[in-house]
Amino acid sequence: MRPVRTVKFECLKCGRCCVQTRRELHGLVFGIQLWPEEKKLLTCIAKERGININIKPQFASRSKSDITLWQLADEPCPFYDKTTRSCTIYPYRPLACRAYPVCMAGSLDKYCEWTKRHEHLIPFRLEGPEPIWNAIIVLRRTMLEQTRPSRWIYDLRTGKWYKVEDVIKEVVAVVI
Ligand code: SF4
Ligand code: SF4
Repeated sequence: MRPVRTVKFECLKCGRCCVQTRRELHGLVFGIQLWPEEKKLLTCIAKERGININIKPQFASRSKSDITLWQLADEPCPFYDKTTRSCTIYPYRPLACRAYPVCMAGSLDKYCEWTKRHEHLIPFRLEGPEPIWNAIIVLRRTMLEQTRPSRWIYDLRTGKWYKVEDVIKEVVAVVI
């Protein structure tokens, strides 16, 4: 068996993940996940800066009004500066952005330019800066706590709610 090698993650600063923020999964379209505190923070920053942002629910528990996770529906991200190719809320960016290119399920996002260039090396052990790992650990733990009791999932494309069990038949978590 081929030994699993270690590959160091180094962001190429291409900005793709901030421009193409929506992802299609299980036939639905999602934006960047936002925890309730992150929703409040981003709404506050946007208000201060006088910009409009569009935040929609992503998961809800028993009733659709009991939102467990939100999502940024805008694409590209309204906080991305195309001229400087940088995040204008970097110290306050959501956990999902901090952990990127690792997604909630623990897999590497294929939209990421760095992932694309290293895909042929998979499976590998990802070596990244410590803040990324801290974010990944928190992201996965909070995801399990927040979304496990969820019954409803919201699709950005149709603007409709679906029952989680009708959409997510199988969760494939790739541990890297
Ligand atoms: S919040 Fe910042 S890091 Fe996250 S998508 Fe927007 S610009 Fe990119
Ligand atoms: S797509 Fe990947 S390589 Fe490009 S800026 Fe985002 S994290 Fe970095």
